[in-house]
Amino acid sequence: MFDSKVEKLLNEQLIMEIYSANFYLSMSAWFRNKSLDGYANWFYVQYKEEIDHALIFYNFILNAGGQVKLGAIKSPSSEFEGVGDILTKSFEHEKFVTSLIYEINEAALKVKDYKTVQFLDWFIKEQVEEEDRASTNINRFNLFGADPKGLHSLDEEAAARTYAQTPQLALYEPAVV
Ligand code: MG
Repeated sequence: MFDSKVEKLLNEQLIMEIYSANFYLSMSAWFRNKSLDGYANWFYVQYKEEIDHALIFYNFILNAGGQVKLGAIKSPSSEFEGVGDILTKSFEHEKFVTSLIYEINEAALKVKDYKTVQFLDWFIKEQVEEEDRASTNINRFNLFGADPKGLHSLDEEAAARTYAQTPQLALYEPAVV
């Protein structure tokens, strides 16, 4: 069972993770149209990871006796000014997501909802990684991206990113009968 505010925030975060997925898929599509297939791959993998995050929230809410309420998911932008613009927007987005996770954590602490505090621990660590990955992308683009050869090798690097299901998801998904 949940305090109503915590339950509401967890549901909002579930929706936000789906929005994040769509935002990154929109970015991936932009890169595909520009034939930057490596970056397109990087953001496609990011999309899949965000769907995992959403499913982790979904399963946690249900496992802990809460109600899932899926609300409207806002449309992500599909207009971007360039590679640097996308990388900057993804970093800004991750900082925003971190602030939302902290907000849920504070609400949970306030009502001594330690199961939620413990649940969020992984997301707090994950956000450090998300912000680090996003800021590294910006730094490397700023260093090498202005030169076509540099951009080509950054794109090739991004092509190497592979998706593996977020291990945390298996902890919360119901066992398959
Ligand atoms: Mg996420």
